[in-house]
Amino acid sequence: MSSDPLKPEMDDIALDEAIALGRDHRGPCAIASGNGREAVRRATVARGKGRPLVDAAVEGVMVAEDDPSDVSVGFGGLPNAEGVVECDACVMDSATHGVGAVGALRGIRHASRVALVVMCHSPHSLLAGEGALAFAKAHGFTEEDLLTDRAREAWNRWRGGQDGKRLSDEDRWELGDTHGAGPAGFETTTGTIHLSICDDDGHLAACTTTSGLSFKHPGRVGDSPLCGAGIYLEDGVGSAGCTGRGESALDTCASFDVVRQMERGLDPTDACLRVLQRVARLTKAPRLLDDQSRPAFNITLYALRADGAFGCGAMWSGYRYCVHNGSRARVLPAAHLFLRAEG
Ligand code: ASP
Repeated sequence: MSSDPLKPEMDDIALDEAIALGRDHRGPCAIASGNGREAVRRATVARGKGRPLVDAAVEGVMVAEDDPSDVSVGFGGLPNAEGVVECDACVMDSATHGVGAVGALRGIRHASRVALVVMCHSPHSLLAGEGALAFAKAHGFTEEDLLTDRAREAWNRWRGGQDGKRLSDEDRWELGDTHGAGPAGFETTTGTIHLSICDDDGHLAACTTTSGLSFKHPGRVGDSPLCGAGIYLEDGVGSAGCTGRGESALDTCASFDVVRQMERGLDPTDACLRVLQRVARLTKAPRLLDDQSRPAFNITLYALRADGAFGCGAMWSGYRYCVHNGSRARVLPAAHLFLRAEG
């Protein structure tokens, strides 16, 4: 097994074959980001035991929230610029078109479960910051320090890197921008787990949960807890999610658009690629572009149609995602818009 939970061993399968597999699949299915191999298995087992779909989705992603080696989610996640782990999460359930979300939540490892409680036991859709923490504690969640030694050391290295160096010549907060697009030596990292699941009847549930962009500005909320940005679904149509540069999913309503494209008849992979083309077209800030005017960051979109067809597309080649078709979990290559130069 791979030692990097974000990159489990990929199945020996060509991209064309993986695309066809997703296009032709029908029936119950769970898909997730590349760090979700165990999560899709756990969610599928929970669905098989008759758990509500949305509970199955949350049970799946909690594996990543508990895993200290996954530095992009929950316990062990990389902290914000002040060294505090702040998590974002959202759940959606197609049976009720219910949404529950938390943003900038500190000190609670299972942000996904808090989001579920927001959906099921409050009149609200999204709670943030101190209010979200108070809500979680009032519902029996235990506060704990989510910063592991590994994450604290990474944060200290990042802070040390600032000594004597200027992050920007402009009057702007450069920290916490996307990896690869910030000033050299101050790269931040992304990660996150998204999971979508469907049953035999075209019902869907999904969850996206993350510690967000590492070393972000305190209080920064990304796409993950925002319905339409990092997650979206509609009963009988499909479910979608996003990982990667959250600001670019947020300002394009990327997940909402993936579901709309599926409704218009595109298969899941093509729906993701169509939305990525729009994201690329709308990326205009020079600091976010490479020397060929292409986005200098990645986002990956995940799509599950209500009949069980699935697909995934990334801005750049080299990304992977996980799927469970009811009998087996697989790690597949994502389709891409741009081919990354070798080396
Ligand atoms: N989308 C997440 C965020 O922007 C990070 C990621 O998925 O890598 O917070």
